[in-house]
Amino acid sequence: VSSPSAAELLGYWRERIVKVRTALLVVLVAGLGFLADPPTGTLQALARIALAALLITQFRLWDDLADRDHDRQRHPERVLARHVGRATHFYAALGVLSLPIVLLLLSFPNPAWRIAAYGSLALVVAVVYGSQVTAHGRVMRMGWVLLKYPVFVLLPLAAPTSANALVAAAVVYLVVMLYDWATSPDAEDLRRARRDPADAAMFEPVSCYACGSAESVPFVNAEDDFSGMPGRFTFVRCRNCRLAYQNPRLKREHLGRHLPQHAARHPGAGDWGWLEPLRARAAAKYEREKVALVLRHAQLGPRSRALDVDGAHSGFAARLGQETGAQCLAVDQLENGPLERGGFDLITLWDRLEQDYDPAGTLRAARDLLVPGGNLVIEVPRLDSLTWRLYHERWPGIRAPRNTVLFTRQSLQMMIEAAGLQVVEHLPYGAFPPYFYLFAGAAFKVLKGRSPDAAHAVLPYLAGRVLSFPLLLLERRLDLALQTFVCRRPGPADG
Ligand SMILES: [Zn+2]
Repeated sequence: VSSPSAAELLGYWRERIVKVRTALLVVLVAGLGFLADPPTGTLQALARIALAALLITQFRLWDDLADRDHDRQRHPERVLARHVGRATHFYAALGVLSLPIVLLLLSFPNPAWRIAAYGSLALVVAVVYGSQVTAHGRVMRMGWVLLKYPVFVLLPLAAPTSANALVAAAVVYLVVMLYDWATSPDAEDLRRARRDPADAAMFEPVSCYACGSAESVPFVNAEDDFSGMPGRFTFVRCRNCRLAYQNPRLKREHLGRHLPQHAARHPGAGDWGWLEPLRARAAAKYEREKVALVLRHAQLGPRSRALDVDGAHSGFAARLGQETGAQCLAVDQLENGPLERGGFDLITLWDRLEQDYDPAGTLRAARDLLVPGGNLVIEVPRLDSLTWRLYHERWPGIRAPRNTVLFTRQSLQMMIEAAGLQVVEHLPYGAFPPYFYLFAGAAFKVLKGRSPDAAHAVLPYLAGRVLSFPLLLLERRLDLALQTFVCRRPGPADG
């Protein structure tokens, strides 16, 4: 390489493009595209990988050119930052990269709209980069600039507006945004709560909650991603009935010790750690959805009695009472207090049974408290869901060490029926917003057990929510995160 310009371009190429991070991005963009819409053959697969690599290279270069002044302070050693004067050859390279991209887009069906979408993206990015921003605005701007990645995913797909395609695009966006947010120097105040890790004496072995078998196989090891506290928690699967449960489990008396401080201040608000402000945002909607869901499936009048097992003191029972005129009680535990057997028309367990130290016993107790024909409504995270398949050990539904059981549809149905209850209806959703699982799982994947400043979470949370909106329209059909069982205590007429 003789010319200094070519040497500089080569230096830039080595310094900024030939990186493991770039390869991972190509894999992420092309790979999620493949999952959403498998390529028609090897040639198309290669074309899609090449397209992802070219797009990522071009927009990385553009990003670096736009950030040149900023990088002179933060990374003065970089090739582009060291260059004095107008970087004409870099701008030329930026333009030249469009040629293979357009040629590749021409090889896909309906190339006109693909090229139009690529042009529109370039226009938006040019406008965003052309506008002056403050330091705070830089973080906001990045949220917009990173929208290029979902566009990269969708550009070669046969049906870019299908549910699968939108899921893939949303996941790519969440991952890159959270990665950027977690690794950018502006977000260096990521911190991990310094507490003693749990020791072995705090755990106890437990047999299967459903069948009593002590035979199990390892299932998943999880961390407390909500609080960021150290420690690994083991979940196993029953050899006999396949129920997944924490084993050994944290002894009940140590749960409180493992909660972050805010939980001590707001008993029942739960152990949401850095996600607490986001939970608080969703709380009011969650309560409304609970009431709406119950009223779709159970009939309550002024003479009805309802019981909510509500450790979170959510106010659900009071709200249900206001809307129906029914007498509605809330208790922390079913075994607490002198509850009248056979006295309730409705019992609700929102997000509770998966934390129970005796879930089968709780179901039997609920059955005994119901009038014959009375309803039990149970909402739990669903193990056989899309978010579990995406996130595995970082799935928010694990919520280690708080959750003792991870229910699939089948394992909960078996436990319900074993308790002498009938399943009236199974819903592949809950009252709780499934977007929370989509967001928190992606965040946990990136943070790997670290606990960030909650204030930083709100912007990506809201931006991701806007982007996932089309997907969430399908939330009742997609097995995203939660499930609800509507059950019934058999009456005398049932034999
Ligand atoms: Zn079992």
